[in-house]
Amino acid sequence: MATMRELSDLDVDNRRVFVRCDFNVPLADGKVSDDTRIRAALPTLQALSERGARLIVASHLGRPKGKTVPALSLEPVGARLAELMDMEVRLPDEVVGDGVRKLVTETRAGQIVLLENLRFHAGETRNDPELAGALAELCDAYVNDAFGVSHRAHASVEALPRLVPDRAPGLLVRAELAALGRVVSDPPRPFVAIVGGAKVSDKLGVLVALLERFTAGDALIIGGAMANTFLAARGHDMANSLVERDRFNDCKIVEQKAAARDVRLLLPTDLRVADDLKATKASAQMLGEPQLSGRQMVLDIGPESERRFADAVAGAKTVFWNGPMGVFENEAFAQGTLAVARAVGACPGYCVVGGGDSVAAVNRMGLADQIDHVSTGGGASLELVEGRTLPGVAALEMED
Ligand code: ADP
Ligand code: MG
Repeated sequence: MATMRELSDLDVDNRRVFVRCDFNVPLADGKVSDDTRIRAALPTLQALSERGARLIVASHLGRPKGKTVPALSLEPVGARLAELMDMEVRLPDEVVGDGVRKLVTETRAGQIVLLENLRFHAGETRNDPELAGALAELCDAYVNDAFGVSHRAHASVEALPRLVPDRAPGLLVRAELAALGRVVSDPPRPFVAIVGGAKVSDKLGVLVALLERFTAGDALIIGGAMANTFLAARGHDMANSLVERDRFNDCKIVEQKAAARDVRLLLPTDLRVADDLKATKASAQMLGEPQLSGRQMVLDIGPESERRFADAVAGAKTVFWNGPMGVFENEAFAQGTLAVARAVGACPGYCVVGGGDSVAAVNRMGLADQIDHVSTGGGASLELVEGRTLPGVAALEMED
């Protein structure tokens, strides 16, 4: 059986510890405009620092596609990290090379070397063994605290840890695995999953995996543009709404699986519609009444659906939510997402939210601290809920 070591098991005192973080943060005017992801790594970095580690921190930022793109330098991240850690952060101007080696050799406990954007090097996304080997030479121990990229087999996430025997997940990755593990393995029931967002095709794997684990009395709630496709597959005219016509058959399979397992499948029974994504007001109406005109789009669930969805959530012992109920970026279509966020916040069961946009919605609405676990990984959290093993987690396991 493969096992993982814990952060506390690693010998780090006066040793060079490589910490892969997810500092893929938004920048504005050359500054970090939202430091949530940097803060998320602080517990691990502080714990290591207190134990005398010589920290080598690395991350990607954006998509420079293997070239040095000055606008995607980690320099602003280094500045913010120095403030938050109250430590000197030294930034070499490359990912690997003589300069980096020299800087790392000179670095003492109490200082941090922050490598330049890993994706400036073409080997990172290719999981290049040579890049991994060069990074491995820089360190004595390896920690993965980059949950948001742990579903990617990239050099700093997958190939590198396999070369470093002293390796472990960081505290953030540990917390994510524990929280999502509670949803995946034997969750207290009823289990209610709420899935929304843009596309059925993005999330079909999750829908099917959830249904296969569901038992009678559990519920699958579908909202957002995904619900448009389900409703269209049932024969409703969705006018100009976002609908994936090539996914009708998948929708029917999901409906059949739900029925076969006695799982409640909740779709919107009323909708909020408008002619324009920039509209300042939406009109609410029951599904199919009146008939939508050609230009109209369904952009949110309606008030009756909000109540039905909230009622289903209220009785749940476990909740997993991914994907907004509407185009929440526009306040006129944010009601449904807000209602679901409030219901999840108020639910006494164990509730997990994952997904870039759903998490952004929960944060913007100020409801994050009412939810048991707000995941830092969109794709990674979905893959775990699908039951897949993340490459970055598998690479931490030790063969005994
Ligand atoms: P997440 O990042 O939480 O996994 P997705 O990326 O799948 O979520 O979907 C989020 C996007 O879905 C948002 O940009 C939102 O505007 C869009 N969306 C939700 N409902 C609708 C709708 N009815 N019509 C068009 N777009 C929608
Ligand atoms: Mg998204």
